[in-house]
Formats: sequence, structure tokens, C-alpha cells
Amino acid sequence: MYHRVGKPESQTDQRYCVMPTRFAEQMKVLARHGHRGVSIERLLDWMDGGPPLNDKDIVITFDDGFRGVLEHAFPVLNALGWPATVFLVADEIGGTDEWHSATDPTGVRHRLLSADDIRTLQVGGWSFHSHTCTHASLTQLDDESLRTELVRSRAALTDLLGNQPYCLAYPYGHVDDRVEAAARKAGYRAAFSVQPGFNRRDVNPFRIRRIDVFGFDTPRVLLLKVRLGSNQGGLRHAAAYYWRQASRRLGIPTA
Ligand SMILES: [Zn+2]
Repeated sequence: MYHRVGKPESQTDQRYCVMPTRFAEQMKVLARHGHRGVSIERLLDWMDGGPPLNDKDIVITFDDGFRGVLEHAFPVLNALGWPATVFLVADEIGGTDEWHSATDPTGVRHRLLSADDIRTLQVGGWSFHSHTCTHASLTQLDDESLRTELVRSRAALTDLLGNQPYCLAYPYGHVDDRVEAAARKAGYRAAFSVQPGFNRRDVNPFRIRRIDVFGFDTPRVLLLKVRLGSNQGGLRHAAAYYWRQASRRLGIPTA
């Protein structure tokens, strides 16, 4: 899970914005180690019992629909032949990330993909899905507003994309049983959380796990995070993981 690709401009950007050169290095290292980017459709088909995926296959997603994704990430992924998915905020197409004004009033806002940008990426094999209408925290909404965010964003994006989006990414990762039920009722086929981990075939399709890629993640750290299915790519964490794996194989009980 990525957010912005571009030049970091604030404290939060250190975390949620990845420099273009670093993004290119991260992809190069993943490719060199046998990873392959596959489409979100392949993931969902596999979860439904469709064609098998490789253990090392990854799905690359970008939340919010920042324009830097077209400028900086698309050329890198295109060269590798890897598709990606963007979760769009339906009311802000061609605008800026206004929802961040609440948490970061003095911060710089950033441009979001326009309808033309989205078409360019669609032609390049990218897919687009819903990140609601306004980037609201869904768990805070009453039932009616919750329904509107889910249903209206889907309808608006259908007009824009020419096909009906069937995936959702919960803004801020905020989800509970009520939100999950509303997403199912609104007709989505799957929804993406921010809970780290691997996705096995029997994962709850409305709580698909994702690893957070931070601006300060070196390519090496990202490789470890992908291997461990964790947001922690530190060596101490890796050692603990491999110890658990080895113990399990040897039949040593672990706490
Ligand atoms: Zn978001």
C-alpha cells in the first residue's frame, strides 16, 4: 500500500510519501528477488478459486489517487509490465487532498489525478476502485451517510471509468462489523484494510491485508517487510520471524 509518490514536504510526508528514485529502487529490488506485480483482479479470482498465484506475487495499490503516481510510479511499473490499482476519492477527482486540511491545516495540499490522467492509466492497464466520496472515517458515520459514501462513490466512479468498481479501501483503515456489512450490502466484492500480513485464499475478502510502505523504507527494508508480511522490516523482527519458522519446522513450541 502506497500513498503519494513525490517530494516529501512535511513531517507526515516522511512516512506517507515515497521519493520517485526510492520507489524505482524498491520495485527493482522486488523484481530482482523474484517478486511480480499482479492485478487486483487476479488476486480476487484466485481467492474465488481461480488460477493459482505464486507465493511471491504482490498487488501494488495506491490510496487517494495522487497525481505523482502517474508522473513517477507509472513509468517504473510500466517498464516492469506490472499493473497497479488506485483507490480514488470520488468527489475530489482532479482536485487536491482537501480531507487532510482537518488533520494538517498548515500543510501543503497535493494534486490528485484528473479524469484524463485516469484514462491514461486505464489504457496502461491500471485499475481503479473506490476510496469513498469524501475520504470520511466510515466508522464515525451514521447508517445513512455510510451508505451514501459507499453507494454514491461507486456510481460516480462507474460514470468516470466506464466500468463498475467492485473494490473498496477503507479510509484511514477504519472498519468495524457495521462498516463491513454496509460495504457488502452496497455491492462491493472485496475491501482492503491497513492490517499488515499475507493474504491466504481464505482471507476475509472484506479485510484484505496490506503492508504499509513508508517513505523511509529502504529497498532492503521493503523486501523484508514483503517477506515477513509485516510493517516492521527491521533485522530484529526478521530474526524473530525466522526463529518462529525454524522452531515450527523442528517442532519446538513457541510462545
Ligand atoms: Zn486514504
